[in-house]
Amino acid sequence: MKKGIYLKETGVILSTLPYGDSGSIVKVFTAESGLMSYFAKNGPSAKGKLSPFEPFTLGEISYEEGNGSLALLREFKVSNYHLPIRESLERIEAAALMADALDKTQGPGLEAPDLFTLFCLYLKWLPQAKNPFTLAASFYLKTMKHEGVLHITPDCTGCGNPLGECLLCEGTALCTDCALEGTALEPEETQLVLLLTLAREFKDIKQEEISPRLLQALRLFFENTTQ
Ligand SMILES: [Zn+2]
Repeated sequence: MKKGIYLKETGVILSTLPYGDSGSIVKVFTAESGLMSYFAKNGPSAKGKLSPFEPFTLGEISYEEGNGSLALLREFKVSNYHLPIRESLERIEAAALMADALDKTQGPGLEAPDLFTLFCLYLKWLPQAKNPFTLAASFYLKTMKHEGVLHITPDCTGCGNPLGECLLCEGTALCTDCALEGTALEPEETQLVLLLTLAREFKDIKQEEISPRLLQALRLFFENTTQ
C-alpha cells in the first residue's frame, strides 16, 4: 500500500488497553469488518481530558495494515462521544454489558452491519430509557437472535402451548411440562423476555423495568447459549 493512504472504517470503541510505553490496543466494533483491534501509538490523552479512545465513542478510523497481526490506527475522527451515557454510572454499566455481548460473539472480519446499526441505536436510546439495564438485556437477546442461536416465540418450542411460566435453556424457552432443566421464569418475566426479544421500536421498551434477578438470568442464558 502507498504511504499516506489509509484505509477507513466507521466504528464504536469498545475498550482501550495500555500497550508498551505509551501505546494502546483499541478494540473497535466496526460497521464493515466486525470486531477489530488496532494498535495506536498514543495512549489516552492527558488527565481530565476526554480521550477519543473512551469506550462507546463513535467515529471514523483511519488505519494501515501493520507488519504483525494488528493494524495501525493513524487517526480517529470522533463523530459522537455519547456524552449522555457518561452522565450516569448505570448507563455506563449497561453500555459495558452491550460491549461485552459483542466481545463474546463477534470477531475480526465477521461483518455484522445489522448488529452495528442496532448497537448504535441502543447507545442513542440508552440515556432515554427508564432503566438502562432493560436495553442491555434486550441487546443480549437480539445479539443471540442475530447469531441464530435464539429460538423464542410466544409458544413453547416443545408442545406449542402458549408460554406462561417457562424455563430458559440453550437458546429456547420451554413450558414447565416440556423442560427438564433451565432457569425458571414467572409469567410476567416470560412476557418481558418476549417483548425485549421482539421489540422493533424504542417506545415498546422505553418504560420497561427489569429486575436484577432477570438481568442476571438473561446474562447466564446468553453465556450458556453462545459459548
Ligand atoms: Zn411445552
